[in-house]
Amino acid sequence: MSKGEFERIADYFAPLAAKFGGAYGLTDDAATIAPGTGRTLVVTTDTIVESVHFIGDETADLIARKLLRVSLSDVAAMGAVPRAYLLNIALRRELSDTWLERFVAGLRQDQEEYNIHLIGGDSVSTSGPIVLTATMFGEVEEGRALRRSGAGPGDGVFVSGTLGDGVLGLRAAKGDLSEAKQDTVAALADRYRLPRPRTALGPSLAGIATAAADVSDGLIADLGHIADASAVGARIEFERLPLSDEARQIVMDRSELLAMAATGGDDYELVFTAPEEKIATLLENWSGVSVTRIGTITADSSVRAVDAHGETLLFPRIGFRHA
Ligand SMILES: [Mg+2]
Repeated sequence: MSKGEFERIADYFAPLAAKFGGAYGLTDDAATIAPGTGRTLVVTTDTIVESVHFIGDETADLIARKLLRVSLSDVAAMGAVPRAYLLNIALRRELSDTWLERFVAGLRQDQEEYNIHLIGGDSVSTSGPIVLTATMFGEVEEGRALRRSGAGPGDGVFVSGTLGDGVLGLRAAKGDLSEAKQDTVAALADRYRLPRPRTALGPSLAGIATAAADVSDGLIADLGHIADASAVGARIEFERLPLSDEARQIVMDRSELLAMAATGGDDYELVFTAPEEKIATLLENWSGVSVTRIGTITADSSVRAVDAHGETLLFPRIGFRHA
């Protein structure tokens, strides 16, 4: 048995909106957001579908947190600070209140972690799979939103954190890395299930980076988007790609998986371009996630990775495709 629409909003969702003035306790027809003076709103939306984007064995709190984090990653890639979100959910009629309670607990946990607030949304019943949409609002100083189109020849190419954990984590979560150590498998699966959007780094790059994107489709694909939008190319030094200790352990035994660091999706790191000296100034006082220079923007239009001997490595440019 489940609660009616109004009861659900009052019991589960209104408390998530209590601290945001413009949400009006979810009792008005719409919410209002006032960006600070000289600031502009950034907005992005993501939808996930049961058995397409989550494999079915995740707990509802993890599903909620991943939903928010994927959008938080896009807001960070624009150089913006996240503030509030709308939530649209289509839930199967027979879904229990326990599932919804756990879903809401996940939302609450990440609201606190990222200082964001629910400000509205909609919920409907469906006989089909669960469909969840989050629309995230952030803000950035006017004119300073990071675009994909500003990279110029000679700019360094940088990435945050480590690459390949998302796609190796998906394999781990599916049980495909059973030969690996258990804690390695657990750490990678966790990286897949719970991305770490770079919400501190992104806003720090506003006014410094010339272009940015988050790594959701895979480094080569997402850097390709920057290259296309900027009408430039890029040269990546493959041996510089930062790997986590866990990913390193996996690829030591199975070197065919190494290419996944360049092409795998779901990392939710930031890839960005900037003049070297500007980044050096930022990093002098930076204590957050690691930032690694992996290559250089070129005037020609190809995105290529080279090995330690300068030989070009071939990767399919398609990257990771969501099913
Ligand atoms: Mg993105």
